[in-house]
Amino acid sequence: MTSEDKTRANQPADIAEFDYVIVGAGSAGCVLANRLSADGKHTVLLLEAGPKDTNIWIHVPLGYGKLFKEKSVNWMYQTEPEPGLDGRQVFQPRGKVLGGSSSINGLLYVRGQHEDYDRWRQRGNVGWGYDDVLPYFKKAENQTRGADPYHGTGGPLTVSDWRHADPLSEAFVKAAVEAGIPFNPDFNGATQEGAGFFQTTTRRGRRASSAFSYLRPARRRGNLRVETGALARRLIFEGRRASAVDYSQNGIVRRAWARREILVSGGAYNSPQLLQLSGVGPAELLKQHGIDVVLDAAGVGHDLQDHLQVRLMMRCAQHVTLNDVVNNPLRGMLAGLQYAAFRKGPLTIAAGTSGAFFKTSPRLATPDIQIHFIPFSTDKMGEKLHPFPGFTASVCQLRPDSRGSLRIRSADPTVAPEIRINYLASEVDRTANIDGIRILRKILAAAALKPFVVEEVDPGATVQNDDEILGFCRQRGSTVYHPTSTCRMGTDPLAVVDARLRVRGIEGLRVVDASIMPDLMSGNTNAPVIMIAEKASDMILEDAR
Ligand SMILES: Cc1cc2nc3c(=O)[nH]c(=O)nc-3n(C[C@H](O)[C@H](O)[C@H](O)COP(=O)(O)OP(=O)(O)OC[C@H]3O[C@@H](n4cnc5c(N)ncnc54)[C@H](O)[C@@H]3O)c2cc1C
Repeated sequence: MTSEDKTRANQPADIAEFDYVIVGAGSAGCVLANRLSADGKHTVLLLEAGPKDTNIWIHVPLGYGKLFKEKSVNWMYQTEPEPGLDGRQVFQPRGKVLGGSSSINGLLYVRGQHEDYDRWRQRGNVGWGYDDVLPYFKKAENQTRGADPYHGTGGPLTVSDWRHADPLSEAFVKAAVEAGIPFNPDFNGATQEGAGFFQTTTRRGRRASSAFSYLRPARRRGNLRVETGALARRLIFEGRRASAVDYSQNGIVRRAWARREILVSGGAYNSPQLLQLSGVGPAELLKQHGIDVVLDAAGVGHDLQDHLQVRLMMRCAQHVTLNDVVNNPLRGMLAGLQYAAFRKGPLTIAAGTSGAFFKTSPRLATPDIQIHFIPFSTDKMGEKLHPFPGFTASVCQLRPDSRGSLRIRSADPTVAPEIRINYLASEVDRTANIDGIRILRKILAAAALKPFVVEEVDPGATVQNDDEILGFCRQRGSTVYHPTSTCRMGTDPLAVVDARLRVRGIEGLRVVDASIMPDLMSGNTNAPVIMIAEKASDMILEDAR
């Protein structure tokens, strides 16, 4: 009997072997757990390193501010010093709880541009063009505005309009229109370009995480087992076939065998980390850490991308901002009561209320900048709001050219990986950010916002020429929390998964999460990840027939 056989024999039969073992109960993993267990034919184990989603702030939309640095539900990663950001390290929150990052994110529902998916298809990924993926966005969706050619109803993920009337957010949209950007009532409809209001993944004023939307309805199924506090440490291979997952829980290392497949859904940082820890990754890196090489796959951890966010902050002339609510005990209490009674009011604010998508140059076919507008201001996200009335509008370049990497730092699965994004490494990215800030300033100076603006607090009027604006981006730029593409789909030698999300060169193993995106799409990443997992579920079940 080999030592692996002994471990197998030591396992209680009910937890030792499943048809599918899913690593990570995040945006993608919860979708897989629901869909793969739905017909009752397959047994499914879902492993999640974090706890159950019982923290009350997970369920209140504005609660994301409380979870940025809440280590009980957050991996709290840091990048290495970023050369393009004056050597600063950038804090990288990631959900570590049922629902993953969809339990701590900013709730914005933005799918990206039709052209993003057509570009993925053009790069050889059959089945990933816009017409191919639209049915999966619709299948996932419960659109409270009703169904139309772009939207679905009756799906698990409720998508809603904001339940609060805010004069400042409305003034931003009017100002954008005055600055020449057309009004767009639906960023996820026929076209993304324009200014308007964001929709959010909320249901009756509460967060609709993937745990809430997909896992909760499936929890009672006898063929689905969910283990929390269960950290997958490495995958076990029989030759080139992935056959089991070792995970630790309450100080004990257990082994779960997968009869059919292992599905890695740990997110853009943890999925490549787990592959590397298991011997699938760049051989030189694995050898450096004493890990046996199962497959020399240079693309694992390669091509990391993220959206940079550069925030302009304004001092407001009226006491209409969230700063005014939070800094006034009476108004704060009223907001709490309003939320408790009606699930409405300031506590329903997501990571943007209104926004805009525009092109920085007429030579572009589609917008390259997204603006997130939010009626509060703070020096650092997740920290105290300013003591004065303030609001924020941030520039986010949608398709960064710069590429980074993720590499394990140790063979110990509890040691955080080395994350390098290389923000602003490319001239295209630097120019887009500078031009984006110039256009945003035009919006902020338009007539509709005049009654609300005292002055620009950050960077302030002294920052004007290109060098000064770029300097500001370097000093203050941060993430908008959208890392992707570290196990990217494709057909070239660095691609990690094929168009059916199977790890190339390995059997019985797929990656299903943000890490498979061939490149970063032009929007917020949660809805696309849920779409990816919906599509993956169909492919996995088709392949099981
Ligand atoms: C602060 C923040 C704000 C954001 N705002 C928005 C927004 O407004 N709109 C939007 O669309 N997107 C937003 N995003 C991004 C979006 O939420 C993510 O892109 C998306 O949730 C990623 O899904 P995923 O399935 O790839 O990974 P995740 O949802 O992060 O899930 C990965 C899961 O795997 C678990 N896991 C990892 N490793 C292991 C292991 N070894 N063993 C067991 N379990 C493991 C993790 O704990 C986690 O639960 C935000 C993200 C953050 C962090």
